[in-house]
Amino acid sequence: MKSSLNELQQNIIACRKCPRLVAWREEVGRVKRKAYREEVYWSKPVPGFGDFEARVLVVGLAPGAHGSNRTGRMFTGDDSGNFLYPALYRAGFANQANGSQAHDGLKLTNLWITAVCRCVPPDNKPNREEILNCCGFLETEMKLLDSVQGIVALGKLAWDEVTRNYGAALAFGHGVLLKATASLPWVLGSYHPSRQNTQTGRLTVDMFDAIWAKVNQLLMN
Ligand code: SF4
Repeated sequence: MKSSLNELQQNIIACRKCPRLVAWREEVGRVKRKAYREEVYWSKPVPGFGDFEARVLVVGLAPGAHGSNRTGRMFTGDDSGNFLYPALYRAGFANQANGSQAHDGLKLTNLWITAVCRCVPPDNKPNREEILNCCGFLETEMKLLDSVQGIVALGKLAWDEVTRNYGAALAFGHGVLLKATASLPWVLGSYHPSRQNTQTGRLTVDMFDAIWAKVNQLLMN
């Protein structure tokens, strides 16, 4: 399984299927943000990251322009990651709270982080065709991560994608739980830890910690 996941990671990194996103991810890496002008941006699709034996899959939307499109690791190097990784550390899924750089020693336990779309989209909005182009990677990843019992969907778009095959329609909301079926894992919705949510108070530290407490509770059942 480990070798298959490694192979999948390499296929993701090499992908150039969406012309608009290939052009955008490379332009962001050329123009850069002033604070990072000395850095070489990753500017490629970002593969999933975490524990090969994960019991929990975390699904986000897409790489941040100056976060994982810069560092090459999911949720790394921007405000979203700086909110997510400390929460994972408090809940026992990470060995440290700091996840700000690709080679910072961060290790995840029991958890794998991935996204619906692997390339940074303009305005954080991949179009339908781009999502369809990319969703095969997520499906393959889910098959290979065969210890997964549950999914945390960060934001509505991730929720809509991962609950597509469940039949029962359940609207996205923070803390909404779609129960596991005989063949599919449970799905827990959470507001995305984006700056727009965390800096407006829509998603607080306590609200986010409650999601991870719920995940630990579900894993014990
Ligand atoms: S978004 Fe996905 S399918 Fe499109 S180029 Fe990036 S990795 Fe490939």
